[in-house]
Amino acid sequence: MSAKLQQKEINNYYKMNVLKFGGTSVGSAERMKEVGKLILDGQQKIVVLSAMSGTTNTLVEISDYLYKQNIDGAIDVINSLEKKYLVVIKELFSTETYLEKGKALIKQHFDFLRSFASKTKIFTLFDEKIVLAEGELISTALVNDYLCETGIKSVLLPALDYMKTDKNNEPDMPFIEEHLGRILHDTKDAEIYITQGYICRNHYNEIDNLQRGGSDYTATIIGAAIHANEIQIWTDIDGMHNNDPRFVENTKPVTNLHFEEAAELAYFGAKILHPTCVLPAKQANIPVRLLNTMQPEAKGTLISTECRENTIEAVAAKDGITAIKIKSGRMLLAYGFMRKVFEIFERYQTAIDMITTSEVGVSVSIDNTKHLDEILNELKMFGTVTVDPDMVIICVVGDMNFENVGFQAKVINALKDIPIRMVSYGGSNYNISFLVKAEDKKKALNALSKHLF
Ligand code: ADP
Ligand code: ASP
Ligand code: MG
Repeated sequence: MSAKLQQKEINNYYKMNVLKFGGTSVGSAERMKEVGKLILDGQQKIVVLSAMSGTTNTLVEISDYLYKQNIDGAIDVINSLEKKYLVVIKELFSTETYLEKGKALIKQHFDFLRSFASKTKIFTLFDEKIVLAEGELISTALVNDYLCETGIKSVLLPALDYMKTDKNNEPDMPFIEEHLGRILHDTKDAEIYITQGYICRNHYNEIDNLQRGGSDYTATIIGAAIHANEIQIWTDIDGMHNNDPRFVENTKPVTNLHFEEAAELAYFGAKILHPTCVLPAKQANIPVRLLNTMQPEAKGTLISTECRENTIEAVAAKDGITAIKIKSGRMLLAYGFMRKVFEIFERYQTAIDMITTSEVGVSVSIDNTKHLDEILNELKMFGTVTVDPDMVIICVVGDMNFENVGFQAKVINALKDIPIRMVSYGGSNYNISFLVKAEDKKKALNALSKHLF
């Protein structure tokens, strides 16, 4: 039997659920204890945890001070974060032994953070990634110790031992399957596995992360790697709402979404899901359920291959978009024009989100402006280039097969008072997207809710 086949068997053996709890869901000792209640149903499972809410932002703040060599500023923030954790452990643990263990754990992690605060050392991007990993390392150690204190056979799965990205920054699935499979095999008797969301090692084996909000991605990657029954994303809201609750009142949860619909919503700004986390679940065809820790009985949202036909499900908005228009009189005649344009973006590793074309030009939108100047310089060879910064993509998602007539008119009608820079439809059966000015975002989201739901 080949090594690979044996590995597949190991993986298939673990038909568990993967449950991910976000920052708010582990945001206090009380919430951690609630998580303990939610996960104990006698079924073996993998539990992915985020850092306690606010921690990753604070670690970013500490890193900013360290980049600027503001050692006193960094130390102040580190010390006040440590104080918060000392309160948490007092409330979390009930025995002297675990309280002492908790104190030692906090001291160790915060001494480590303080070790970066040195006037003689330059703080690098690599250091920042190491600092950012601390949030998840602490939260998982605390919850694991809490479960052990209450007599549960809980085992920590160290994400840095199995979660890896490849040279394209994509999950290295063969590596993950093999290493996670092996750790699970070696700790078969565990009742609960606790692991860190967000953090990973990159192609060079350095500590890295899956970008902000990446714990969702950790959960779906693990789900795909172990062929889980179901992936559950537990958060602070009862599922994917039909519009962004931060900008629109009276939004409602959507009960069912197709993988494609959820992927569009996540990518185009629905913060409840990390932008690319639907993909591993979709590829492995593992249903994803979005659930509310504060309201566990609520139905939430089920993401699977099922969807409601002929229905507009939800709206999302993606900020920080720049539109670029290239007008070229020669475009119609010049085949290969598009390729040349796209090659420029590829060379500068800049992804294009939206694209619209006409006979005289092409408009694209990007969210990464790191190489904007270089890109513009090269594009100018093809014609007149105009740039519109501070734009937002508004994405309307649902079953939008072109034969279902009428929904485009409905959507356009809802936006009749808002200037629209670009429209994109037909790329998939599941979305229609608009580019509008950032200042019109709230108005557009509200108008769509009013007319569509
Ligand atoms: P967690 O810390 O659990 O990962 P997040 O803050 O990342 O939670 O995601 C949950 C938040 O996403 C909600 O509190 C809500 O404000 C926001 N959100 C944005 N768009 C949506 C949407 N369409 N449906 C539900 N929540 C959304
Ligand atoms: N803690 C990380 C963040 O705040 C990852 C996550 O919560 O998903 O971005
Ligand atoms: Mg999140």
